[in-house]
Amino acid sequence: LLEVDSVAKSYGALDVLTSVDLTVPAGQALGIVGPNGAGKSTLLSVINGTEKATAGVVRFAGRDVTGVGPADRARSGMGRTFQIPRPFTHLTVFENALAGASYGAGLHGHAADRRALEALEMADMLPDANTPAGTLPLLGRKRLELARALATDPQLLLLDEIAGGLTEAECDSLILTIRQLHSEGITIIWIEHVVKALLAVVERLVCLASGVIVADGEPSAVMRSPEVRQVYLGGGL
Ligand code: ATP
Ligand code: MG
Repeated sequence: LLEVDSVAKSYGALDVLTSVDLTVPAGQALGIVGPNGAGKSTLLSVINGTEKATAGVVRFAGRDVTGVGPADRARSGMGRTFQIPRPFTHLTVFENALAGASYGAGLHGHAADRRALEALEMADMLPDANTPAGTLPLLGRKRLELARALATDPQLLLLDEIAGGLTEAECDSLILTIRQLHSEGITIIWIEHVVKALLAVVERLVCLASGVIVADGEPSAVMRSPEVRQVYLGGGL
């Protein structure tokens, strides 16, 4: 479904991604770990088009999308959550999801309403539909971020640290939601520092360090690999 081919990204003199190759088949749930500043969020941005790669090619659903902007990529089936949730605080949860359905999926009227409600249901946010987004607790903000991404009806869902800062019980409930999305066949790339959450869902794990992939494979094997141990030496995950 997704092919990232020799992708590099620099900000001026700062080389954030050196050369990343990553192929993700349809239906896979892939986790990404790596230390702060490794380039994980930047990789998601290059995949969904919010940042332009300095070099390399991104292919999605058989199409070269390297030169395609984020709105077009969203409409072609990519949904993304951001590390720092920024809901429209003065709007309700439903109105926020509706914005995702119109901007992301290009829907209007009843079709957009239906899509927004579906997304809220998938994110287990339906009971909060009429809550002002600004009053949501952290878990609610995370679920709304998820619902907005789902409102684009994505084939590929990109999650950026959605489990961070939650209590154990909140994290467990979010894991159930994401597992359900995975079982419905949505392809998932999930960046997460909460490794326990990742391990409960993903079947493949990649470790990114200093802009390159240093390990890639079965999650528990990757966590035990010398490359990953080296990266986290003294730091802990
Ligand atoms: P974290 O785990 O802390 O979220 P990360 O792996 O997601 O880290 P990125 O956010 O991708 O890391 O950032 C990688 C590097 O790129 C950092 O040094 C960061 O300061 C830099 N960077 C990110 N975005 C920009 C930008 N728009 N302009 C300049 N530098 C940037
Ligand atoms: Mg990040």
